[in-house]
Amino acid sequence: MHLKGCAHRGIGANVMSNVANRFCSLTLASMSTHAALTHLLSSNTQWAEKFESANPGFSFQKSASELQRPPVLWIGCSDSRVPESVITNAKPGDIFVHRNIANQVHLDDDSALSALAFAVNSLGVEHVVVVGHSECAGAKACLDAAQNPSVNEDGSITTIPSLPRDAPLNRWLAPLTGFVASLQLSGKPTNEALLVVVEGNIKMQVENLCKTQTMSNAWASKKKVWVHGWLYDLATGRLKDLEVSRGPAS
Ligand code: ZN
Repeated sequence: MHLKGCAHRGIGANVMSNVANRFCSLTLASMSTHAALTHLLSSNTQWAEKFESANPGFSFQKSASELQRPPVLWIGCSDSRVPESVITNAKPGDIFVHRNIANQVHLDDDSALSALAFAVNSLGVEHVVVVGHSECAGAKACLDAAQNPSVNEDGSITTIPSLPRDAPLNRWLAPLTGFVASLQLSGKPTNEALLVVVEGNIKMQVENLCKTQTMSNAWASKKKVWVHGWLYDLATGRLKDLEVSRGPAS
C-alpha cells in the first residue's frame, strides 16, 4: 500500500523510498485495526466539516495563514477528563497548552519552561493558568505515599514502590510527594486530604511559575501577564478560581 500524502514520497534514493513506504504502510495497517483510532479519525472529519458552519467567524484557512495569538497558556493535568478546549468551549487558537501528570511546573523541566517562554515572549499571552482537578490520580499517589511511606536510605520517599525508585514517574512525582509529606495530613479523611493536596499543589505550581526566569523578566519589564490557579471539579464540570493570582507590580 502506498500513502498519497506520505511525507517521504519524492525522496530520490530508491532505498530510502522503499524503507519510507514500508514504514508508512505498516503504520497505516496497524491503525486501521484499532476501532478507537478509526473512530477518532472519522469524528475529526465530521467535526472539521461542521465546525466552520457552526462558527461563522472562524475559518481554518484564515487560521492557518495567520500567526496564532492565544491570550492564555493553560498548564494542566494529562487526565483525559480535563480537556481544556472542551470544558471551556474554546476554539482552535484560543488556548496554548502544556499538560503533564499532576500539572507540574518543575524548575528544571525544559518542556514546561520552553512552553512558558514561547507563550510569554513570542505569543504574548496575558494569562498563564495552572489548572488542577479533583480526584487527580497523580496527587492521590503522592498522598498515599506520604501516608504510608516507602522511605529510602537518604530519607526520601518512593512514590510508587512497585516501580523502580528511579523510574520516570517516580522521579516526576518526587517533588509533589515531598510537599505532601510536609503537610501532615494523617488525621484527615482521604477525600478531604486529597482536596487539600490538589489545591496545595496548584498553589505550589503558581509559586514555581513566579520563580521562573520568564516571569521574572516579564514582570521586570512591566509586561502585562498574570499567573493564576484554578481547580476543576470532575463531579460538576465546573472551574473555580483559587484566587492566588499574581501579576506585574502596579
Ligand atoms: Zn490529574
